[in-house]
Amino acid sequence: MIVDADQIVKNVREAGVVGAGGAGFPTHVKLAAQVQTVIANGAECEPLLQADRCLMAACPADVVTGLRLAMDATGASRGVIALKAEYEDAVAALEPLAARHPDIDLHRLGSYYPAGDEFLLVEDVTGQVIPEGGLPLHVGVVVNNVGTLANVAGAGRGLSVTQRILTVVGQVRRPLTLRVPVGTPVRDVLAYAGGPTLGDGEYAVLLGGPLMGRLLDDLDVPVLKTTSGVVVLPAEHYLVRRKSRTVATNVRWARSACDQCRDCTELCPRYLIGHDLQPHAIMRAVGQGLVEANHVITSAALCCECGVCEYYACPLHLSPLEVNREIKRVLAEQGWRNTEHRRQDLVTRDMWAYRHVPFDRLLARVDLWDYEHVPVPLEDGDRFPPRVIMALKQHTGAPARPVVAVGDTVRAGQLVGEIPADKLGARVHTSIDGVVTDVVTDRQIVIEAR
Ligand code: SF4
Ligand code: SF4
Repeated sequence: MIVDADQIVKNVREAGVVGAGGAGFPTHVKLAAQVQTVIANGAECEPLLQADRCLMAACPADVVTGLRLAMDATGASRGVIALKAEYEDAVAALEPLAARHPDIDLHRLGSYYPAGDEFLLVEDVTGQVIPEGGLPLHVGVVVNNVGTLANVAGAGRGLSVTQRILTVVGQVRRPLTLRVPVGTPVRDVLAYAGGPTLGDGEYAVLLGGPLMGRLLDDLDVPVLKTTSGVVVLPAEHYLVRRKSRTVATNVRWARSACDQCRDCTELCPRYLIGHDLQPHAIMRAVGQGLVEANHVITSAALCCECGVCEYYACPLHLSPLEVNREIKRVLAEQGWRNTEHRRQDLVTRDMWAYRHVPFDRLLARVDLWDYEHVPVPLEDGDRFPPRVIMALKQHTGAPARPVVAVGDTVRAGQLVGEIPADKLGARVHTSIDGVVTDVVTDRQIVIEAR
């Protein structure tokens, strides 16, 4: 069969496919590159979430077809589906399909955190280290989340991205994994899970995973193409208290309590694969009141925000992650660009092989053990929220430009947001039939079901 790489990229662009596992990088841009290897990321980094596992077990053909298309688009001679060895149902579903392709393998990962981080995944699969501030592309690799690849397969059938699989877990009556229209408000998602088991004011909701997700103060925020989970925890839970601390408190504690033990650095996965990221040195600089963009401070740009330093390593419960986040926010505000942290030809540090953070110990450390062992099966069936909020920026790049107006009638799958000319971005399609009731440029389009 002659495969037209340009046509695959065009289909993916038109369908609005973005990275389903992270920042939502537009997939058509990734697939326009030429590489040797495409990795399907099914590692499911975060505790409690099972969306990728359920997808791989329930729709293995979509994952393999999407991987095949991604390989054809990028000219890759090798495809790898990387997933945790303990995902036995997903392995059993994928193995016979992958076996039909001599150039596609399964790569079984250990149960460590954060196995799904792109840099660690590429190192685990290929043995190569992505340069500081670099991309998998720099070592001839493209990494796509398995959900992204399922959407690439859908794009090949003319389907735009309108649905999202996510896990709802924690203090809800019926923890589960389900498929919802993109744009469904979190409030409705919680209702599909039977609602919180705790009263108003007694629980907190995290959008995303428990470690990298953010606390919500508004349950009307919508599910995005990148949303993999909704986690409900008691208001007094360890993680809620940690995430509620202010920047000022985190900086004050860094100044007054950090004893420079280096545990955060010695367990930082980016440091261990050879990058020059030393959170203890950043904490020392902040503690000494150094805030200008010197070499130590700006090395925070290399942080992937996994939280190992904060939630696992630091014996004093300090917040190197939050300090790094704040530095990155300020650097971005100042228009700082990373030209100085660009080391290449890196080798992993000797201790990396022995310092993977065991998943189970991490769970115990952050008080998630009981929630992790609750089943969250995929529950099939369509959900029909009364309205959806289609965010115009659910991806890296510029917000989509609205192409509908208030009062327009739209059908599920119809284009409502277009990529602005000459900009990096992704298209947005409505996920339900309905009428447009609000359009806020650069922000969102609200559609009421009809
Ligand atoms: S969050 Fe902490 S452990 Fe993770 S990469 Fe950043 S500094 Fe390293
Ligand atoms: S682990 Fe905690 S106390 Fe030790 S250097 Fe890092 S931030 Fe400071």
